[in-house]
Order: sequence, then C-alpha cells, then structure tokens
Amino acid sequence: MTDATLPLLERYRDRLARGGEEFPISLGEGGTPLIHARRLGAELGLERLYLKFEGTNPTGSFKDRGMVLAVNRAMARGVQAVMCASTGNTSASAAAYAAAAGLPCWIVLPAGKVARGKLAQTLAAGARLIMIDGNFDAALDAVRELGHDERIAVVNSINPDRLAGQQTAAWEIIDALGMAPAILALPVGNAGNITAYWAGFRRSAELDGTSLPRMFGFQAAGAAPIVGGAPIASPETVATAIRIGNPASWQGAVAARDESGGLIEAVTDDDILAAQRDIVRFEGVFCEPASAASVAGVRRLTAQGSIKREDLIVCVLTGHGLKDPDIVAPEEGSLRPVSAQIAAIRHAMGL
Ligand SMILES: *Cc1c(COP(=O)(O)O)cnc(C)c1O
Repeated sequence: MTDATLPLLERYRDRLARGGEEFPISLGEGGTPLIHARRLGAELGLERLYLKFEGTNPTGSFKDRGMVLAVNRAMARGVQAVMCASTGNTSASAAAYAAAAGLPCWIVLPAGKVARGKLAQTLAAGARLIMIDGNFDAALDAVRELGHDERIAVVNSINPDRLAGQQTAAWEIIDALGMAPAILALPVGNAGNITAYWAGFRRSAELDGTSLPRMFGFQAAGAAPIVGGAPIASPETVATAIRIGNPASWQGAVAARDESGGLIEAVTDDDILAAQRDIVRFEGVFCEPASAASVAGVRRLTAQGSIKREDLIVCVLTGHGLKDPDIVAPEEGSLRPVSAQIAAIRHAMGL
C-alpha cells in the first residue's frame, strides 16, 4: 500500500526516480477511482467487473501520468520548449504541464480530426497549434524529425518517460484490489498504454510477487493495424483518440499480448458507441468513445464465452466524456423551448 495523499511521482518515487531527482511540477495526477461496475456487470454477465476511470486526471485522460514525468525531466534538462503530435489528449496534457513549467508548447495536429473539448483545453493553456494536412501518423513523423533539436523535448509516447509514468496506473490497480486482475482490458491506439501497463504489472510481479493479468487490447475496426498485421494509410473511427494507422509502440503491444496470453481484437464503431452509452447509463461514468472500446470488447468476449462470470476484470476508461461532447445526441425530450406553464411541461413529460 502506498500513501495516496502524496503526488503520484512521490508515491512511486522508489520505482521511478533517479537518485535524488526532484519533481517540482504536479497537477494532482493519478489516484483515479477503481469502480465496481455492478449494474453494467450484471448487464454483461460479469460479477467482478471494475472500471479504472482515468477521466478524473487533471486534464481528463491518462496521458497526465506520463506527461508529469516527461515535463519534470524536460525542465530539469533545461529545454526551451516542449512539442508533440496529438490526436487531442496528449496536446491537452502537454499544454497544461508546459504551462505549469513555464515552457512554450508546440502541438502538431491533424486538421479537422480533433474532439472539441481537447482543442479547447489546448488553446486555453496557451499552446501554439500547427494544423497539418495529414493524419496523426504524418504529424508524429514530423515531430520525431524536429525532436533532433536538443532545445525541444518531444513528449509523445516515444519519449520513454511517458511510458515509465503510465506504469503507475497498473500499480494503483494492484494497490486497490490487493492483487492483479485476471484480465486488464484497454483501448489501443499508438499502443503506448498497453506497453506501459504490461511493464508495470511485470515490475510488480518482480518486486512483490503479484500475479500477471492477461492483456486484452481493442482497436477500432477502421483503425486496427495490429489486428490486421499491417499499417493502415487512412484509419477511420469515431473514437478519434485511437484513430492511428501505424502505432509507435507496435512491438510493445504484441509483446504484451503474447507474453500475457492475451489478445488484440477489433470492435466496430457501433459497438463502441453502444458501450459508451451503457457505461454512463448503468454506472454514471461518462467516458469518451475510445475508452469504451475496452468494454465493447469485453462484452463481446463474454457473450462468446471467452470470459467467465467470476473472472476479475478491469476495463480502463482512458478519457473523460466531456472531451468529445459532439458525439452525444439527445434521444428524449426536445431542445426547443415549451411554455413555462406547468401544464405544458407535464405534457412535454408525457404525463
Ligand atoms: C491516447 C489515448 C488512447 C490510446 O492510448 P495509446 O497509448 O495511444 O494506445 C486511448 N484512449 C484515450 C482517451 C487516449 O487519450
């Protein structure tokens, strides 16, 4: 057990810090809830389904766990700016931590493909945006090249500090459950997170003798290069955070899958959106579409009999639903005003 009142990097200092390294910057990242999903579990046919809700991180996604370490180290190294390519959440996180560090932040984004909330966060924190005519993979290629300049710290997940910090989510799950789950399910985009979770679980196994979970990764059907075994030139999905055709951590994801006896499969956009809706309607937890790929995948595998009712399962909900408000449409009621008379409101209620 660790002291939950400490900032994340202090809490896991013995596993993350180099010598007497200091971490002056923290926005209160980590310490996210692990929620026993009783109603959703009953719906899916699972007794021990848990949701690790990463939407409560300071900028609303798990990216903050690694960003805090990457930006603390970039600052200690004396860089003049931070930079990243992003499908949205990395930019929101980089912009916030760069602001706290007093560093300028450059973001390279694919034009027109970023959720509104993420763009708002990035601009509000004063990051400078460069929209390119190209997808995320093209943006990352450009940033890699520019990162050869030592004055610039690239804070994409190709930066090893990002993945090191993201291991903390695995450690928090073990702390909360008192053991590792049988299955850890999560969405896979650039595949940094599945790589980091697996490293975190293996580290705990080494240090504390905890068991290892099977790693279940889910890609969107229109952006599933690892499932298909080849890069995809024009990935498409409503789940913009995992709209990636050539994952940077491809090898790490394959190793996590194979070493853990897990799997990486595809889920359709319809299944992702249905899962997003059910997670919030059964549990009150509002996540963004990409996050729901974990639950969509677990639902299908449970229906197929590949997951058993009593299995201990953690689905990682990677980001907050408020990031992408445009995805939710009103299903009942009307957004057109009615008269303020009680009778009119009763009528509108169908009473
Ligand atoms: C970044 C992100 C992912 C994908 O994580 P990878 O490490 O790129 O596989 C999934 N969901 C959300 C909300 C994200 O921000």
